[in-house]
Amino acid sequence: MNYIFPNLKAHSQNSDKLTSSIYSLIDKLKKHRILSETELCFILDNISLKEIPYLYKASFVVKEKYYQNRVYLRGIIEISNYCKQGCFYCGINSQNQKIERYRLSQSEILAACRIGYDLGYRTFVIQGGEDTYYTDQLMVEIIKEIKVKCADVAITLSLGEKSKESYQKLFDAGADRYLLRHEAASRRLYETIHPKYMFYDTRRECLSNLKEIGYQVGAGFMVGLPTQTNDDLVEDLLYVKSLEPHMVGIGPYLCHEDTPLRGSKSGTLQETLVMVALTRLLLPKVLLPSTTALGSLDPMGREMALEAGANVLMPNISPTENRILYEIYPDKICITDTSGQCRNCIENRIIARGHVVDLSRGDHFDIEKKLKS
Ligand code: SAH
Repeated sequence: MNYIFPNLKAHSQNSDKLTSSIYSLIDKLKKHRILSETELCFILDNISLKEIPYLYKASFVVKEKYYQNRVYLRGIIEISNYCKQGCFYCGINSQNQKIERYRLSQSEILAACRIGYDLGYRTFVIQGGEDTYYTDQLMVEIIKEIKVKCADVAITLSLGEKSKESYQKLFDAGADRYLLRHEAASRRLYETIHPKYMFYDTRRECLSNLKEIGYQVGAGFMVGLPTQTNDDLVEDLLYVKSLEPHMVGIGPYLCHEDTPLRGSKSGTLQETLVMVALTRLLLPKVLLPSTTALGSLDPMGREMALEAGANVLMPNISPTENRILYEIYPDKICITDTSGQCRNCIENRIIARGHVVDLSRGDHFDIEKKLKS
């Protein structure tokens, strides 16, 4: 059962009066970059397909002001599907006995980076389950070696929760950015989708530690989770507004049958895009990925996200034979492609919609300005 966006259905027809109230709130948000909790909730409770083009246009215009029609590319390497955590939604959680586990060696990770570098990528995202095989020492070595062999790249890590000391070591070794979605800003919802040994406060503390250390930080959340309400989603919006991360990853929740949440309903494309667009209006300069989960939900999902204010795409550069095993959610796209095929496919999709590929490091607007000056 989904409790979010009651009017976001094909047959919902808002009255003109309701439509103009929603338009006024979108205008106000665009101008002031903030709305009250009640106003944000009003949008989520009432928005229908009729108001969607207006919202996406507003978000797109704000994105254009800072990033024009550029789309940044990051090559993502999924290094391991071993995980000590037990997130109820995630297909690689430690309880899932049905999947074959894999991890990439240091040389395999370096080889994937080499391929990515030759394809033109200047950011690598190193993502994985929380796999204790990769000690701080090993990660430090990997980061340093990448930085020697591919000197002008930015390294983004997405390896889950660690102590502040570990984050510091990896930063000192040369990691530039860290993606750690907060998953759900509502304490009730966070606790509903995680086991008792995973703590809401720890996740938040990790994010503030990462910021303090000096990483460019990515938070983020899923849309359409079981029991999620519009109030919960408003909490996500207000949390990212207050944290002011450099990136926000927003994707639909996609039900995986080999998890404790089996049998639940998944989030939808439009629900997710509305959250992407509202996030852009709240944080005009933020980097917003058009997530692979959106492309998995709808063949045109990622292109639609670009039109709703997203400006980053993450083509896969993992070895093709491992991709199928990194099944955090079902029906993931691009799992049989080579890295070169992903590169071409993504570029064609970007150009077809009137955007251009930007192969620079793709830093946040403020950081790029600082680096240039
Ligand atoms: N271990 C890392 C990487 C997790 S995978 C970490 O903890 O950050 C990256 C993201 O995929 C997660 O943060 C989560 O938001 C998303 N994800 C996991 N399972 C999902 C599912 N079933 N549907 C949609 N997104 C999912």
